[in-house]
Amino acid sequence: MMIKNIFCEADIEQLKEIISIGHVFVLTCHAGPDGDALGSTLGMAHYLKALGKEATVIVPDAFPDFLAWMPDSQEIVRFDKHRDMAELLIAMADVVMAMDYNALSRVDDMGPMIAKSKAKKVLVDHHLHPDTFCDLNFSHPQLSSTCEVVFRLIVAMGGYDILTKAACECIYAGMMTDTGCFSYGPCTQEVYLIISMLMQKEINKDRIYNKVFNNYSEGRLRLMGYVLYEKMRVFPEYHAALITLSREEMARFDFNKGDTEGLVNIPLQMKGIYFSAFLREDTEKDVIRVSLRSQGTFPCNKFAAQYFNGGGHLNASGGQYGGTLQEAVQIFEKALEEFPMP
Ligand code: 5GP
Ligand code: MN
Repeated sequence: MMIKNIFCEADIEQLKEIISIGHVFVLTCHAGPDGDALGSTLGMAHYLKALGKEATVIVPDAFPDFLAWMPDSQEIVRFDKHRDMAELLIAMADVVMAMDYNALSRVDDMGPMIAKSKAKKVLVDHHLHPDTFCDLNFSHPQLSSTCEVVFRLIVAMGGYDILTKAACECIYAGMMTDTGCFSYGPCTQEVYLIISMLMQKEINKDRIYNKVFNNYSEGRLRLMGYVLYEKMRVFPEYHAALITLSREEMARFDFNKGDTEGLVNIPLQMKGIYFSAFLREDTEKDVIRVSLRSQGTFPCNKFAAQYFNGGGHLNASGGQYGGTLQEAVQIFEKALEEFPMP
């Protein structure tokens, strides 16, 4: 059994041509890179390197420790730390791929550099409503993850045979993290077919799971305990829960980048809770980061767009607020009263 080709023939031909002509490739993802962002960029980089290309992953800022096992992650260039080198690479690239984001605003200061670059630009993503800043677009919001788009593209280009185990490990990790271990989001029959094709390349899926989920620091686990015991507020009449964290609280638990990842999902484990919000002070900028998750038909993305300048998917979205944490909480409380429950 093979997975279906979901792309139009002309787009695949164009991508093949762009790849065959290009030599220097830069693969970029959104700020605050998650498993899918790193998995898709590194997965694509492995594929391009197997074709003999020069491929560099450039990320806007730090990524969490629990993703540092990904093959070649030590070669990733951080734009915020090595700006000169990153700018040079972006300016010199034959091809820049925008992966796991749909707008240049999601890559912070890297956005203007990408906009300015003369490289051919290719979007590979699964977020709704992509902006038009690329020459060639593979935007597939109906798919589980950008990693799934990457895998399907490589198969469509006839590249499955040269796909290495390292590439497959990155791709699997992104599919796994974006779907909560294949428990939500579009986990179609074909997702499992893809997993099977990745397993044919001898990935060790249990090892990948352990690297990502059983790899917390002590601070992170204690932060989880603190958050659930002391910080979670439940609004039973709205089937909702709210967690807030200040900069001071994160510092108390030796906060590392990525330590708050996944906290927003936990309240959904409670009976009768379908909507969960997490508001935290950003550790660097004067802004409140907003993460929203839901189950069923509650549209997190509409909530994020209406109250927190954001958006995203139906069940997972985010945004930000340019004020204090207390103000953000007040907005959230008022929004709960106003927002129609499905
Ligand atoms: P997270 O809660 O993990 O930061 O974000 C979950 C999802 O929400 C992301 O995958 C992305 O689709 C969306 N998202 C997060 N922040 C923003 C934002 O500021 N604007 C928009 N449009 N979407 C966001
Ligand atoms: Mn993603």
